[in-house]
Amino acid sequence: MRVDLGSHRLHPSIEPRILADLQGLLGDRLQKRQRNGRIRLLGRWMGFPLKAADLVSRTPKGFAARVMRDALVSPFTRPREDTFSEVVRAGLGRTISETFYLPYARKIWGIDPFRLSGEQARRRVAADSFVKLAARVVRGSGAGGARGSSYFWYPERGYGAISEALAAGASDAGAELRLGERVASVEAGSERVAVATLDGERIEGDFLFSTVPLPVLAGLTGADEAVMTAARGLRIRSMVLVYLVLDASRFSTFDAHYFPEANTRVTRISEPKNYRDASDPVDKTVICAEIPCWFEDATWSATPGSLAEIVTHTISDAGLEVPAIERVHVERLRAAYPVYEAGFERHLEAIDAWVSSLPRVITFGRQGLFAHDNAHHALAMAYTAVDLLGPDGTFDLEGWEAAKRRFAMHVVED
Ligand SMILES: Cc1cc2nc3c(=O)[nH]c(=O)nc-3n(C[C@H](O)[C@H](O)[C@H](O)COP(=O)(O)OP(=O)(O)OC[C@H]3O[C@@H](n4cnc5c(N)ncnc54)[C@H](O)[C@@H]3O)c2cc1C
Repeated sequence: MRVDLGSHRLHPSIEPRILADLQGLLGDRLQKRQRNGRIRLLGRWMGFPLKAADLVSRTPKGFAARVMRDALVSPFTRPREDTFSEVVRAGLGRTISETFYLPYARKIWGIDPFRLSGEQARRRVAADSFVKLAARVVRGSGAGGARGSSYFWYPERGYGAISEALAAGASDAGAELRLGERVASVEAGSERVAVATLDGERIEGDFLFSTVPLPVLAGLTGADEAVMTAARGLRIRSMVLVYLVLDASRFSTFDAHYFPEANTRVTRISEPKNYRDASDPVDKTVICAEIPCWFEDATWSATPGSLAEIVTHTISDAGLEVPAIERVHVERLRAAYPVYEAGFERHLEAIDAWVSSLPRVITFGRQGLFAHDNAHHALAMAYTAVDLLGPDGTFDLEGWEAAKRRFAMHVVED
């Protein structure tokens, strides 16, 4: 049974030309699926994306009234400072922020929301005002749902099938792919660029397109101390993924369970089998719990047994049954989420100025631009980079700077 590195869906807001390419590569193995998640809020389950009816009928008495009161006040409220907590509180009111967004932010990014930049809210909270939230809830695409719809795309053989199909397409077109190479250094000249591997090989080219984390690129390129100091100022949140192989045909009928509240370290549990129609084994299922953490902290270093215990407690505290566990498997993602700590802009600007001074190095992607993005945004960046590469081997650097300003408008979909 193929599983993903945490819950992944391809969002319908993907550029049509990119979707068409993926459909061309994957055919009807790229399935159109209805979202079917639920969220644990205030001791009860609600459909996720949230629906207006649930917000009124399934929340504790008085909750909807408090939200309505916040909505009336909100047009006259301005953030007192540019922090995540102030931006969300001004846009969505105290009730929704304190029940949902602030505890969730603290778990995902690991620091208090008043120490996060307001930019984190603008990039990460798609429905950041009552008007946008109401529009989504009425459409049924909810606070975390895809713009304008509640469906998503998903390959029959798991999300990784997208990368595999693109890799196969690239190879067919003549690209040589080498996976697992260890890069020792990058020489970024003004005419050529070279990458040296730990095995002592030197690969030269006209351009280097990089998606490794920006601080890693700075280190490999031998950037000066001022740039390295800026790089160290950019914090990246890690994540532990705990997979439980269950001796049951299904854990639930839902694709994902969301846990925004502070009573568990888990943020989401997904069941890959429910993301697709496929010939998965009938008598087994796998669930994957996402636990954000810092690199090498106690959670990162915890044993599979104790991580599995966190997951089973989360499940039973939410009133669900845990089927017999056949096996536990743990994956650790060092670079999961860029953290926009207050003041991060100054570090990012310094490192961006440095990378822009290297005419042969183009960095993009989630870690490569330290941007909150989805896979369809990362793909859009790659397509843009290709568009700007001329047939004569030149790269339109001015066009790229303009494109980066557009990328900064990307807002993540959950
Ligand atoms: C838990 C989770 C769930 C998500 N869910 C969704 C979703 O449902 N839908 C969606 O569209 N997006 C989702 N995303 C976001 C999506 O994964 C990213 O937008 C996308 O992966 C970005 O692609 P990228 O190529 O820029 O970066 P990545 O996929 O992060 O690729 C960066 C690459 O750099 C490599 N690398 C890192 N350090 C080094 C090094 N030192 N040397 C060499 N290589 C290195 C990494 O191994 C990795 O392969 C999710 C992300 C997470 C963490």
